[in-house]
Amino acid sequence: MAILLVHPHECCSTKSPNMTQRPLDMSPMKSLVLLTGPNGFVGAHVLDLLLKNHYRVRGTVRSLSKATYFKNKYPEASASGCLSFVAVPDIQAPGALDEAVDGVDYICHVASPYFTSSNDPIKELVEPAVNGTRNVVSSALKSKTLKRMTIMSSFASVVDLSKNPRGGYTYTAEDWDPVTPEEAAKDGFMGYHASKTFAERAAWEMWKEAKPDWDLVTFCPPMIYGPPMQEVDKSKGIDGMNTSIKRLITSVQGEDPAFKPKVATPGLPAWVDVRDVAQAHVRALALEKGVSERFLLCGGVDYFEDGLAGLRARGEKGLGEGGAHVVPGKHFGIDRSKAEEVLKLKFTPFEKTVEDSWEAVKQLGLI
Ligand code: NDP
Repeated sequence: MAILLVHPHECCSTKSPNMTQRPLDMSPMKSLVLLTGPNGFVGAHVLDLLLKNHYRVRGTVRSLSKATYFKNKYPEASASGCLSFVAVPDIQAPGALDEAVDGVDYICHVASPYFTSSNDPIKELVEPAVNGTRNVVSSALKSKTLKRMTIMSSFASVVDLSKNPRGGYTYTAEDWDPVTPEEAAKDGFMGYHASKTFAERAAWEMWKEAKPDWDLVTFCPPMIYGPPMQEVDKSKGIDGMNTSIKRLITSVQGEDPAFKPKVATPGLPAWVDVRDVAQAHVRALALEKGVSERFLLCGGVDYFEDGLAGLRARGEKGLGEGGAHVVPGKHFGIDRSKAEEVLKLKFTPFEKTVEDSWEAVKQLGLI
């Protein structure tokens, strides 16, 4: 495979630094990571894996009340100071993250609005995503201690929706969603795509222009599924769940109105396990200096029915009627080889992702 390798200050160059993993940090003073959005679906997994890998974590939350669940979940890390939280009520306020960034070794920027129904997509999706990312990068550019920042972008910043399903085409890190500001204003779905595209573009542009001494890594995963670890408001039922898990569960239950009573068929059928996404962030921090990259992450291109064989075989109740299986070659592919080679990721199979998600949501009493 030809890997696109990137010079620290040239995101799109083909220069090839030696991309080897540094051993995990064994120094007595553990490296400090600023994690934005630790209380969300993805953020909670990144937080968990960072702590398991002996990083100190400073999480930003809009209100400190959102940190209580995690302080209780990780009492030792909280008591020892390995886990702390700071309130950043408005991620768009100028300089909002300056104090939070102070003294950190790494930043994992995960916080961004993720929903696809909106009456004002520019205000509710595009502005917080873009201004939030610009703010994190601006604060990072003032840092004298930062070594690398990872940013949670999305396959939404990669895919060209006008060409869907694009059978025979394989998306790579060279692809960018051509969404325009005019399209962004149309609805929440386009607004979300624009929010991720414009935010990631802004980060690379700022970084390339400033040429800082730290590295930038962005991740572009499609739909992320897997067992939720975040605090869930069970009183809201499945609506208390994050967007992607709600979509998975209602789809396999046959509750999607467009397909009911059958298991739904996704329009963009690519997916990845949340545990692999968290692993990508943590492994990227350990890459040697000088590696700045855009990584596509992907577990596979499947329809929901393709992940249900195990649950159906054991007679699981609550599933929708048999839905369609993916037709090989009908949809685009995603080149994940760079993530496999550089980050040594081994992607979780779909059946496991679906079953573990289903079990976890069932344990919560929401199925
Ligand atoms: P969640 O909704 O579970 O979490 C979103 C996180 O971002 C929360 O911590 C939330 O904080 C924070 N956030 C949202 N809006 C704002 C805002 N305006 N200001 C400050 N913080 C905000 O979503 P996910 O965990 O699924 O998504 C996390 C990231 O992963 C996002 O960047 C998303 O685009 C990306 N992603 C997700 C995919 C998926 O399928 N889940 C697929 C590809 C990318 P609060 O609780 O205060 O709202």
